[in-house]
Parts: sequence; structure tokens; C-alpha cells
Amino acid sequence: MTTTVDDQPAGGLPGPSAGVIPPRVFAAGRAATSRAHTAAFGPRRALSRDELLGELQRSGLTGRGGAAFPVHRKLAAAVGRRAPVIIGNGSEGEPWSWKDAVLLANAPHLVLDGLLTVSAALGARRTILYLDRRSVAPVAAAIAERSDAGGVELFEADDRFIAGEATAVVNAIQNGVALPVDRVRRLTESGLDRRPTLVHNVETLAQLALVERYGGDWFRAVGDPTQPGTRLVTVTGDVAAEGVFEVPTDLDVASVVARAGGEARLASGVLLGGYHGQWITAGETTAPPGDRAGAGVVHVLGAQRCGLAVTARIVAELAEASAGQCGPCLFGLPALAARFADLAAGRLTPQAAAEAARLAEAVDGRGACHHPDGAARLARSALRVFARDVHAHAEGRCVRSIR
Ligand code: SF4
Repeated sequence: MTTTVDDQPAGGLPGPSAGVIPPRVFAAGRAATSRAHTAAFGPRRALSRDELLGELQRSGLTGRGGAAFPVHRKLAAAVGRRAPVIIGNGSEGEPWSWKDAVLLANAPHLVLDGLLTVSAALGARRTILYLDRRSVAPVAAAIAERSDAGGVELFEADDRFIAGEATAVVNAIQNGVALPVDRVRRLTESGLDRRPTLVHNVETLAQLALVERYGGDWFRAVGDPTQPGTRLVTVTGDVAAEGVFEVPTDLDVASVVARAGGEARLASGVLLGGYHGQWITAGETTAPPGDRAGAGVVHVLGAQRCGLAVTARIVAELAEASAGQCGPCLFGLPALAARFADLAAGRLTPQAAAEAARLAEAVDGRGACHHPDGAARLARSALRVFARDVHAHAEGRCVRSIR
């Protein structure tokens, strides 16, 4: 079953966490206008920069784009530097994620509140939203409804997988090339226009807007104490109703899958975190995703699907996605893709598995960006979770009927 945001941005937003907590990010309902947004959330508070940083520290809010870095630390590091550039990143190049597109279609004002809050607190020189093409129209409409967002610049993102990587975002806006660049200096020191540049995922900004209104203690009243609050997850694969769900961060994976009408205990594997994420077994779905949540992707592979074949397709896409600027991407990822193709086809299986494990080690941490690390993580998890399939393929058979 395939559902895309094109046919379900506003109307297709699944019910938000009924029976667990009331919705937070989606409290204003679907396709919230400025009036609905203000009615649901009330006015923003006029916090000083130090008050905002204090509330963010108390909240424990972490980034929702994948790295889960503490937000207050990211902002605090920019204090005292040159006026920075603030970028809200809604490019979402991950094929199995559309939570940012659903967020921007339904709660664009909450994202704008968060963006403008950060921009004002840090005295930003430029304030930018970098968006998937599907999100440009709803965000432009939201900006037109407000009197405080006229200075927000909109950029349409390239739809390639790595276009959302932070250095690729800056490169795209500065030079029109949505590829990561090897940087000597951190973006937070020198990025767009050679100014300190902070790139925040758009869900992070929406969550920050909630902290600004209701405070850190309110925010951390739900969820995992180490990563408090709610998060948006996109559940795809062998479930009854793929979609985007707002769930507490401590909800176990099986319950997240159940929200989409799936049964995790029957899966041959569940992919957490997307193409740069990791497979877990059905037995491991009784725990929350924790650090493995990445950008909130949960993909369910039914009992009859071959995880080696699916992983081979993903690794091939990852090898294609890079511009081949660094050795691990130029040589390592195509070789890794070839070994997974061998595993999927049952060719030279024991040797291919050993070589795939060796290549994953060889590329890990060796690129200018984290693209090879993500591919290595995915490959290693596939060799562990689908070990039974590796053995079956070595004996010339596949225990799954769907490849
Ligand atoms: S590691 Fe790969 S994706 Fe990252 S900059 Fe180098 S070639 Fe590009």
C-alpha cells in the first residue's frame, strides 16, 4: 500500500494519539489557519533570550531531524557570535518520511512561531525556510496571513536524498547545489554568507514553539525523560493505514505500529530511522525506539518479505545518492551495494556477507558527512536481523515469498 502526502496532507492526517495523550503539535486541527492556531495555542509569550534558553534547558527538547542534539545547547552556542542565519529545514529527502510535509500542511503557524522565536532571540541577520516543493504553498499561505513573517525567505529544496543534510542545505541556498560539502569550520561558526548558521528541523521548531508558550516543565510531562515530549512518526510498509502520528517519545515501537493497523510481532523486521537507520527484530519492538528513532521513520516489513532484498535496494539508492566526492562514497558504497545484491540473489552468500560486514566497517566515519555512516549502520543491522535469511540464501533457498 502506498500513500503519499500529495493525496493526504490535510485530509489524510491520522488521528493524533487518541487514548494516549491529547495532541500537542496538532492541537489546532487540520490545515490550521492563523485564527484556528491562535484559538488553540493562545498568544506567544515575550520571553527574553535567557528565559527562552532556560525553558529549553528545562524542557530537555532534542532535535527532531535525526541527530537528537539538545536544542538549548545549539542555541546557547550561537550567543555572543555575529548575527547568525537561522534556517528551518523541511526538505525531508527520506523516501519513507513525510512527517515534515504533514506538519507544514497542518501546523505551519507553529513552525513559523518557532522559527521567529529563535530568530528574534539570536538577532538573526536572515531567517529562511528550506522546503520540499509540497510544503511551499501552505507555508506561503500561512506567511500571507500574518504580519510578523514578511522577512522569512522561502527556498525550494532539491528532492535528492542527501539534500537535507545541513551542509547540503547551506550549499543549496548559497550556490544552488544541494550536495554536502567538506567543511573545515563548523556551520555554527561560518556557514551561509560566512555567518554562523543554525539549521533546525521544522518539527524541532514547532516543538520549540510549544516550550516557548507553555514552559519546560509542561513539555517534559510526557515522554521519555531523556528525550521528552512527543514526536511525529511516519509509519509505512505492511500496515493497514500508512500515515503520520504524533506519539509520546516513550511509546514502544509495537504500539506505534499498531496505530497504523500493523502487527509488529509478525514482522520479519522493522526499520527505525529510515535509510540511514537500523533494522530491529519483531522481538525488539516491545521497547521505545529511543535514539534509533532518527527522523521518526518506522517501516514495517511483513513476515513474507525478504529483508535482504529490501536492504539491497536501499543500499543501491544510497550509493546512487552521493556525488562521489569522498572515497567511501566513490568506492565503498557501490561495493557494499554489490555485495547486498549478491546476498539478495543468493550468490556467493557466505563470502558476500563477510565482505559486506568488512565494507561497512571500512566506510564508517570516513566521509566528509554522515552519509557513509548511515549506510554502514543500515548494512550491519540487516546482517544481524536477517541472519536467518543469509543462512537460507547460502543453502539456495529464500524463506520469504516476497522480494
Ligand atoms: S561522504 Fe559521501 S555524501 Fe558525504 S560529502 Fe563525501 S561523497 Fe558526499
